[in-house]
Amino acid sequence: MNNKEEEQQKPSIYSLQLHELKEWLTANGEKAFRAEQIFDWLYKKRADSFEEMSNLSKGMRQKLDENFKLTTLTTAIQQTSADGTIKFLFELHDGYSIETVLMRHEYGNSVCVTTQVGCRIGCTFCASTLGGLKRHLEAGEIVAQVVKVQKALDETDERVSSVVIMGIGEPFDNYDNMLSFLKIINHDEGLNIGARHITVSTSGIIPKIYQFADENMQINFAISLHAPNTELRSRLMPINKAYKLDDLMKAVRYYIDKTGRRISFEYGLFGKVNDQIEHAEELANLLKGLKCHVNLIPVNYVPERDYVRTPKDQIFAFEKALKNRGINVTIRREQGHDIDAACGQLRAKARKEELKS
Ligand code: SF4
Repeated sequence: MNNKEEEQQKPSIYSLQLHELKEWLTANGEKAFRAEQIFDWLYKKRADSFEEMSNLSKGMRQKLDENFKLTTLTTAIQQTSADGTIKFLFELHDGYSIETVLMRHEYGNSVCVTTQVGCRIGCTFCASTLGGLKRHLEAGEIVAQVVKVQKALDETDERVSSVVIMGIGEPFDNYDNMLSFLKIINHDEGLNIGARHITVSTSGIIPKIYQFADENMQINFAISLHAPNTELRSRLMPINKAYKLDDLMKAVRYYIDKTGRRISFEYGLFGKVNDQIEHAEELANLLKGLKCHVNLIPVNYVPERDYVRTPKDQIFAFEKALKNRGINVTIRREQGHDIDAACGQLRAKARKEELKS
């Protein structure tokens, strides 16, 4: 194995939770408390190299360097929108690329992270699934996305205040790494992002919804629903053939009962497909009595797909129809309209060759 291959084989230091780093240190003849110092360098001082960690001995820095990677992402493209949204295309050590988006809201800065290189779920409206799944991201590669964005914000003395796991990939298809990621960014010695400021969204991998409910974390949870009935959902999201809408709703009820938390439903509006008033009525019936909230998403035009945008009047009429039936609903503000904002668009455009490989 040459040096470059050896470097690639090393796990990312960002993949380790604090207790795992302590275990590694003690197994390697070091004191466990060093883990807090290393976390401080990684997440508070945001060091670029092990060499910088000046309160660790030279031998220990060398040991860390021999066993872990610290740099896992290289910024290939950084696009800033007129509304302040920044979209990053990061290159991974094996040449694949992923997208991460910084969105600016009145309540703070939110980062949308990617969990997989590509996706195998096959939602018919999504550019991220066009080349299939290439590989899962390590927990550390997900963590590093937030660290990278935080470093960009350090220049203006700003902070990442919330994280949404809604970028490329199905988080529950990479469950263990996603869970480690959540624990690392939530930990007060890590990035210290409050559970209530983290949102994870799934297309509906039912067994993992039960598992996630049993974790009993105070994280915000969203389901990508996009249809009010099973036929339409199967047309838009083939996952509905494996995990049927009825069973999905049972899992949702279990989650709400178990955690006591409200659930969000993401509903992308696709012109003349799922955006008619009868769809809103059906949706209201499906969600009746549930502790939930609906997020209506006016979809961006995806060049590779045929869906058209829902006219503004229709979006408001759909919202009103839900409200009139007692459903909590908001329309998602569009951001980064001028910079390939829909999930996977930047990657699809910049990496046409990669997607074919
Ligand atoms: S919408 Fe999400 S789950 Fe569906 S194909 Fe795209 S990345 Fe995968």
